[in-house]
Amino acid sequence: MWQQFRQMMLNTQTAGEEIIGFFFCKHHQISETQLRYFPKTWVVPTQSCYEHQSTTGLVLKQEFHLYLLQTYLENGFDIVHIHTHPGFDTPCFSAVDDRYESEYAQFIANNFDSQLQLISGIFNESLQKPNFRIWNQLGSSFEEVDFYHSWFERRQEAGGRGQKVVETLSYSQAVDGDLTLPTNKELFSETEMKLEQTGSSDAMFARQEIFGNALQEKLNELTVTLIGCGGIGSVFAEVLGRLGVKNWVLIDHDCIETTNLNRMPGATWEMVDQQLPKVEYVKQLIQQIYHTNATVKTIPTTIENELATQEIGASDLIVVATDNHYSRQVAQELALKYMRPLVCLGTHIDIKSNGVPRMYCRTTIPPLGGGWCLMCGNIINPQMAALESAPREIEQVAQDAGYMEGIDAPAVYWLNSICASTAVGIIQGMVSGFLDIDAGLDWIYKFPESKWYKTDTDYLVNTDCYFCGAEV
Ligand SMILES: [Zn+2]
Ligand SMILES: [Zn+2]
Repeated sequence: MWQQFRQMMLNTQTAGEEIIGFFFCKHHQISETQLRYFPKTWVVPTQSCYEHQSTTGLVLKQEFHLYLLQTYLENGFDIVHIHTHPGFDTPCFSAVDDRYESEYAQFIANNFDSQLQLISGIFNESLQKPNFRIWNQLGSSFEEVDFYHSWFERRQEAGGRGQKVVETLSYSQAVDGDLTLPTNKELFSETEMKLEQTGSSDAMFARQEIFGNALQEKLNELTVTLIGCGGIGSVFAEVLGRLGVKNWVLIDHDCIETTNLNRMPGATWEMVDQQLPKVEYVKQLIQQIYHTNATVKTIPTTIENELATQEIGASDLIVVATDNHYSRQVAQELALKYMRPLVCLGTHIDIKSNGVPRMYCRTTIPPLGGGWCLMCGNIINPQMAALESAPREIEQVAQDAGYMEGIDAPAVYWLNSICASTAVGIIQGMVSGFLDIDAGLDWIYKFPESKWYKTDTDYLVNTDCYFCGAEV
């Protein structure tokens, strides 16, 4: 959306003239003090929409402007008003901007939903350097707003920064020790060990430096919610953890059982005896990778739990690797509600009548902006989901009538690993930007044919879906 918007702004602009554009957004309260606005659509007026346009200012035709406001604001969208200033430096709001936007903020509050606040932005003429602010409803004051054009960019929180400083400090101390006290052999090796444990997070990723520091930093900042910490989820956490993700929210209400031991890395008989919750087991996997600075929240409940819902909304990426349709449906609904990218993982094994097994693994990412979803894309079956969420008695009747797959579905470690590893590769591509997932993605691997199938997502697009259908 950002690329399209920017290109249209640049196309409309002629030689240094100011230009106006709009984003219409939905917002999402992450916490008491944090609010996120997600653009759902954009408008760049063409020349004929302007009354006059010059390097000193510009005015939209009133009827056009009113049409825009009525179309979008009355449908519950927030408005972001953007214009450009000539030049290539980061622009500052002018006194004219202040006066005009102050009146604009009041006008919107008085004529539309009283909750609406004007967000305004300016860019330099190449649309690379922004400055954003949000006005109060009286138009008397404003606050700064951060602008990002990637799903995975976020301002580093204060806590994260502090941790980094601490890390650097202990590293330099250890180096000092190394330089001054190398004679005592025991002390030397101790210093060396300290170096390895505290200061070597860069060294840990030396073999993936080829992908660049930017990737490593983004992974480092990413918070991933993993729903389902079983056979696929645990491998996924292990692999993505090793790639560089250390902030996790883990959701699963199950405990480790004997039947899990064929496919969960590092799971032990002791864990089975202790009835260790799966979320605690995956937490241990992450903590083995990051001794000190991992943040892992464990939520040993089902996905519908309110606490789980909040955490899902506040994370950067949602990954669902459960064994049933219902939790996947709920994950998709939450992903749509909070506008978070969703990655859905699954495997399937059955045996044909001639005794040859058919094995599949599937990774699906519905498009972030809507278009199709797990339900209308038939990735999951809403009827099955409904049955799974039904009271136990109905469940039994349905199961007896053959409507439900048993949850003891066949599963092997190696197939789960292909699925989990593929998803991690896709996430690396999303974060780096070398994989375009704007239209969504659905990849299926079939074994023993050893064939990859990529669903043509154009055929999945559906405007009538109850869950993801277009709102305007
Ligand atoms: Zn201006
Ligand atoms: Zn849909």
